[in-house]
Amino acid sequence: MATQRILDFLATRRPEGPCLVVDLDVVRDNYHAFEKALPNSKIYYAVKANPAPEILRLLASLGSCFDTASVAEIEMALDAGATPDRISYGNTIKKERDIARAYEHGIRLFAVDSVEEVEKVARAAPGARVFCRVLTDGEGAEWPLSRKFGCVPAMAVDVLRQARMLGLDAYGVSFHVGSQQTDLVAWDRALADAKAVFSALAQEGITLRMVNMGGGFPTRYLKDVPTAQAYGEAIFDALSKHFGNRIPETIIEPGRGMVGNAGVIKSEVVLISKKADNDNVRWVYLDIGKFGGLAETMDEAIRYPIVTPRDGDAVEPCVLAGPTCDSADVLYEKAPYPLPVSLTIGDEVLIEGTGAYTTTYSAVAFNGFEPLRSYVI
Ligand SMILES: *Cc1c(COP(=O)(O)O)cnc(C)c1O
Repeated sequence: MATQRILDFLATRRPEGPCLVVDLDVVRDNYHAFEKALPNSKIYYAVKANPAPEILRLLASLGSCFDTASVAEIEMALDAGATPDRISYGNTIKKERDIARAYEHGIRLFAVDSVEEVEKVARAAPGARVFCRVLTDGEGAEWPLSRKFGCVPAMAVDVLRQARMLGLDAYGVSFHVGSQQTDLVAWDRALADAKAVFSALAQEGITLRMVNMGGGFPTRYLKDVPTAQAYGEAIFDALSKHFGNRIPETIIEPGRGMVGNAGVIKSEVVLISKKADNDNVRWVYLDIGKFGGLAETMDEAIRYPIVTPRDGDAVEPCVLAGPTCDSADVLYEKAPYPLPVSLTIGDEVLIEGTGAYTTTYSAVAFNGFEPLRSYVI
């Protein structure tokens, strides 16, 4: 996953301190793989996964659309060359004045999951298209999205009916099956719910036209994951099963699956020690931790592949931790991480699959550690 371009960059530039290096060639390949796997779906890249301007510019030039969660993300997508008709405001929790600012920027596509939010959109973005997010159980996802977003399908019917009554364009339904979703059947369950909303509203004379199938497409960490092609086939089958020959317009919003495997973090071993002479695990402290970009190790949810210069030597389980003075800054302890016994203070390690959800989760300067630097090559 560390491509030759990334290895060459690190070898010649020798950047000081921990940093993320992203290979745009991999992002381009991922974009084309999604295009090929789901040729009838529009791709809305989830900007939050990695908003580096180089990535946004590349995707804009390839024809991608963008899923954004704030006015700042909308402006980043516009700056990268996306036109407003290629941007959705996909956050279901928005201030009314931010909806108004998005509308002034030309944005006409908004996510909602409550009647209260529909009322805001109707006031601040009259006539806009809205889609209603339905809850999913998140089962099968390594980073489930809980109950924070979405409503039950029966309520989505009320929300979209209200949207229509307030002069909005009741456009469709969205869901997110949970991030790092490795169960292909998750989309089938969610599409059944989406279809139920379509049918209920059709009986009232309201014809929805779009299903936003969200993100969730995985990155390969330690375990193999199905290919984009496999996802495409499973999703197409589920769409046919539930919608027959009247398949609506569809959108996908890959974040992790677009950039996760394009990035590698270079880090350095700061300390290796034990807590007692008879301790059977060593503690390995890196110069990056939960506050430096590895927030997704929370609850040890995402387990990154780590490459060391001693790979091939005998390994032993280690507790892996970051450099800050917060005791929460431990990466893997419940399930210790096997690392070479010969690993030494000062060794450089590569943390792979870190192109998504790292730079933007890094603290501004907790304990004086600077935010994660990133190089996009
Ligand atoms: C975060 C997010 C995504 C991207 O999810 P991934 O699992 O990274 O693909 C897509 N859509 C919405 C609405 C999101 O909030």
